[in-house]
Amino acid sequence: MSVDAPAKITILGAGPIGLEAALYARFLGYEVAIYEQGRPAESIRRWGSVPMFSPFGMNSSPLARSALSAQFADELQLPGENELLTGAEYVERYLQPLADSDLLADSLHCGWKAVAVGREGLSKSDMVDEETRRDADFIVVLQDSDGREQIDRSDVLIDCTGLFGQAAWIGSNGVPATGEVEARPHVEFGLPDILGDERDKYAGKHTLVIGSGYSAATNVCALGQLAREALHTQVTWITRKDNQTDASGPMRRFTDDPLSARDCLAVKANGLAADSEPHVTHWPNAPVTGIHYDAHSDRFQVTLAGKRPGVHEYDRVIANVGYVPNVELTRSMQIHYCYATEGPIKLAAKLMENASSDCMAQPPGDAQLLINPEPDFYVLGAKSYGRNSQFLIKNGLEQIRQLFTIIGDRENLDLYRQFLPANPQ
Ligand SMILES: Cc1cc2nc3c(=O)[nH]c(=O)nc-3n(C[C@H](O)[C@H](O)[C@H](O)COP(=O)(O)OP(=O)(O)OC[C@H]3O[C@@H](n4cnc5c(N)ncnc54)[C@H](O)[C@@H]3O)c2cc1C
Repeated sequence: MSVDAPAKITILGAGPIGLEAALYARFLGYEVAIYEQGRPAESIRRWGSVPMFSPFGMNSSPLARSALSAQFADELQLPGENELLTGAEYVERYLQPLADSDLLADSLHCGWKAVAVGREGLSKSDMVDEETRRDADFIVVLQDSDGREQIDRSDVLIDCTGLFGQAAWIGSNGVPATGEVEARPHVEFGLPDILGDERDKYAGKHTLVIGSGYSAATNVCALGQLAREALHTQVTWITRKDNQTDASGPMRRFTDDPLSARDCLAVKANGLAADSEPHVTHWPNAPVTGIHYDAHSDRFQVTLAGKRPGVHEYDRVIANVGYVPNVELTRSMQIHYCYATEGPIKLAAKLMENASSDCMAQPPGDAQLLINPEPDFYVLGAKSYGRNSQFLIKNGLEQIRQLFTIIGDRENLDLYRQFLPANPQ
């Protein structure tokens, strides 16, 4: 059923997808409220020093580029389509100006965290699978850092809260390793600025990096560089499984990779893993079973199984073991989450059909995959993929385009096509 402007759309999270979804909605004349627990693009700010692997053209929409050019023509030089930005540059040159733009500034409420969502007068088990649930407003309970609360009401609710907030367990069985719950506050789960602001924390130290994805590879490369510059810096990189048989190291490479920066990172990290540097050691098949932090010595004792059984000592631990979606937020809603990925089931099932581990090789989505049993409630962006790590910002932009064909029941609506410049650079 179509929800026409000026109905109210509430969006949770002002990452790239929340901001772009809000802009699309504003262009269509909807009333919009976006709630962000921190600053716009808070997650991306946390790895600001790291270069992105997809070019700016893939991470931005024609609609937003056009809106920014119209408003900030004199002050803002938008990045070129093929430019590879760092996270910080992406925020500074695109996402923050978007948040500040006339179309979004009044709709954006920063410093408000969504703690629970529901429907006015209904519990989860009321009106199971009934379309009439949509007659009840959505309710979002919001809290600021001083504990103040407010309630938001809307006709449509879009969850764009991403994944960055909750890291998975380090323990290799999907549950905490022994001692992990206590040790977690001392573990780094992201991408610290190893060669910049956080250099002193890692220089001259032995760091354990856990994980086999691009975040781990990025940290290992930065630590490898630091080891060349700062005496006694050492890195041990552990991955849970044996190296892929078709790969020359822990990082898989893709034939004729269209994302050359991604391939460069994989080559560099595999080179380090293959003992090309004396200060970097890679241990495949070394799952973590225990982790203890000793505050007195400021060191970790990490117990490994597999090919490296025993207790090993490190000064620092960086765990890049993936993220899990916060499904707690929507617990009172009628959402069917996938048993394997915790993404909404329709999209999750489609994604599971895809055998390729290359995020660039995903089958085209379709608007129907975004529909949940809870009418007018949608999950977009990284959270919509759940634990599946193949989400790309470009997929989120396509989700937005598809979503508004459903919300307004206009099959051919495509603001991105409408705003494409006649002669793209
Ligand atoms: C090092 C690194 C490099 C990357 N490079 C690329 C790349 O080159 N190309 C690419 O496509 N992707 C890349 N990614 C992934 C990309 O950053 C994410 O997929 C993207 O940010 C997801 O966008 P999102 O809007 O769905 O979620 P997020 O960017 O995570 O934004 C979610 C927002 O919601 C807010 N939020 C969370 N919970 C709440 C709550 N309860 N209430 C209110 N607000 C909340 C957060 O603070 C955040 O601002 C990279 C990731 C990393 C870590």
